[in-house]
Amino acid sequence: MTYRGLVLLSRSTEESHLYMDLQACPGCGIDGFEWDSHSTQVRGEDLVSVYQGSCPDCGTAREFEFVLIGQEPPPPALGGPEPSRLIDPGQFLSLAREAAALVPASPALCPPDQVADAREAIAVAVAAMDEVGKFVPAGADAVPAAAFTSEAGRALYGADPTQFRRRRIDAVTASYREVLTAYQIA
Ligand SMILES: [Zn+2]
Repeated sequence: MTYRGLVLLSRSTEESHLYMDLQACPGCGIDGFEWDSHSTQVRGEDLVSVYQGSCPDCGTAREFEFVLIGQEPPPPALGGPEPSRLIDPGQFLSLAREAAALVPASPALCPPDQVADAREAIAVAVAAMDEVGKFVPAGADAVPAAAFTSEAGRALYGADPTQFRRRRIDAVTASYREVLTAYQIA
């Protein structure tokens, strides 16, 4: 049985990969998706990126089709100034926290052979926090409840909506950015 996806609007290859990481197998529930084949196709005006593969656990055939929108941003950015259409602010906040949790607060505390990995992880954390911030509408002071489209995102928002206020988002982003700067000059 093949599960064909909806039309997914993606701002970058990184964003497509991240989205697939968050999708459990509909057959057995295992997290994520590792594709066997990938192709890029032109369909009318659209550039479509297609990923196909079978679940290694239950054999379910899976497919994701992303319509690429906008300019591919320079990494580690996941998209331009517009918010994601694939990943919600709660999922981005979790990703930012998970990435930041891997990083010693100062490069002086980091084993030398792990500095490069730590620098990459904190850059991902900053990029993910930037994505959370894009969901705050101009002139508003918080991410609106309607922006949370995933179960995980809604649960995180429900547990503490204040973590999605602009001031909190800006403070966390700034603190991660400070760590990133320290690693960039290390
Ligand atoms: Zn499966």
